[in-house]
Amino acid sequence: MDTKEFRKYAHELVDWMADYLEQVEKYPVRSLVKPGETKDQLPDNPPEVPHSFENIFKDFEEKIIPGMTHWQHPSFFAYFPASRSEPSILAEMLTATLGAQCMMWATSPAAAELEEQMMEWLKKMLDLPRSWKGVIQDTASTATLCALLTAREVISGFKINESGFDNNKYRIYCSEQAHSSVDKAVMMAGFGRKNLVKIEVDENYAMKTGALQSAIKNDLKSGFKPAFIVGALGTTGSTAIDPIDKIGEIAQKFGIWYHIDAAYAGSALIIDEFRNQFKSLELADSFVFNPHKWMFTNFDCSVYFIKDAGQLIRSFEVLPEYLKTKSRGSVNDYRDWGVPLGRRFRSLKLWFVMRSFGISGIQERLRFHIRLNEYFSKKISGLGAFEVVMEPFLNFTCFRLKPEGLEDMESLNNLNEQLLEEINRQGKLFLTHTKINGQFTLRMVIGQTYVEQQHVDRALDEIKRVGDSLET
Ligand code: PLP
Repeated sequence: MDTKEFRKYAHELVDWMADYLEQVEKYPVRSLVKPGETKDQLPDNPPEVPHSFENIFKDFEEKIIPGMTHWQHPSFFAYFPASRSEPSILAEMLTATLGAQCMMWATSPAAAELEEQMMEWLKKMLDLPRSWKGVIQDTASTATLCALLTAREVISGFKINESGFDNNKYRIYCSEQAHSSVDKAVMMAGFGRKNLVKIEVDENYAMKTGALQSAIKNDLKSGFKPAFIVGALGTTGSTAIDPIDKIGEIAQKFGIWYHIDAAYAGSALIIDEFRNQFKSLELADSFVFNPHKWMFTNFDCSVYFIKDAGQLIRSFEVLPEYLKTKSRGSVNDYRDWGVPLGRRFRSLKLWFVMRSFGISGIQERLRFHIRLNEYFSKKISGLGAFEVVMEPFLNFTCFRLKPEGLEDMESLNNLNEQLLEEINRQGKLFLTHTKINGQFTLRMVIGQTYVEQQHVDRALDEIKRVGDSLET
């Protein structure tokens, strides 16, 4: 393809993209294809000869689109959103066009310095400790792994990188509700899953700090070395908030690395009424949140802050001859701040988003989503046999169908599983579930960038319609 053709197709694609964004509601939210259906339409062998772009694009529309779940559909209420916005998409187009591999300052100074400055902006926006240093990672899972690997090096005097584990007596702590990325990080960092201590939670699904303290003391008595605590600022199951301040104090008292996983709810720190609830974030050694979840920045963009960037760099730095530069030491070479060497130019989309929305625009959207959630939770609890299972929080409500007289947990769980299946099968909205105290519960997350009250109303109608049909 030459640039003449590129220009022609790019213009056509931009029209297609704008149409898609305007008309995304014509698609079923969740793809309805069966396993294998997409692959069966693809040839067994790669093409010997070039295909025309028209042909490729026709196949994209006919074979790929039906197998896509439309995360940007305003009736996508599943998981946590992967929110996007037009400025962010435009930045991604430029990023792809520049095609820069931004592994270090010298390979694109503007990319490194824009990243550095965006991290400063975010600290101010979220009112995070100003002394922290930030870096963009692909996902929160990677950031948590980086935190754990750095803690591992710090606690071992930077020996494990050199000679591996001697005598692994380290212990890692998180709540029973922490995200599975913590388990994964513990496995990959070589600590072993059996050394991940899951601390029980209270009635709000937040970590019991008394239990944390006892676990640490018991481990110390048994000769273990407490190394790392994860506090969740918004769990995946129920957006529970662990006692961020108290965990910080315990971590300080015992000299344990303290990592805060705010992957989803971290964006809400931009609103004062939420931020004011947290006094002691500075007790954390590291912190992650995902602008790609609830800050209108296209996937992937996860922001990782660390108290002592020197420890991170010392844990990750390897310096082959071909990567040596004269500027080393006087600039940020982000290749040393995480796992991959190669890095995408992700800060561009953050810059576009922050400038296009402004702080006030982001705050306004988040507050609107929170108001929509208050509206939803009130409506659903007055809707026939539906009940809200736990106190709604931010833009998140857990609910289930509980017909009068039906008390048996298994029957209720089966009924709600059926409800979820049927709602999603219709494709008008997409919900996912969690289990709360063994109860199968539907999760409603109102975070798609452009969701409006009409989408919530339609969701309520559909949930009621399917619920009624199951009850009769
Ligand atoms: N932590 C929490 C609390 C999450 O909810 C999630 C994902 O939803 C993650 C971590 C993992 O996020 P990522 O996909 O960015 O690795």
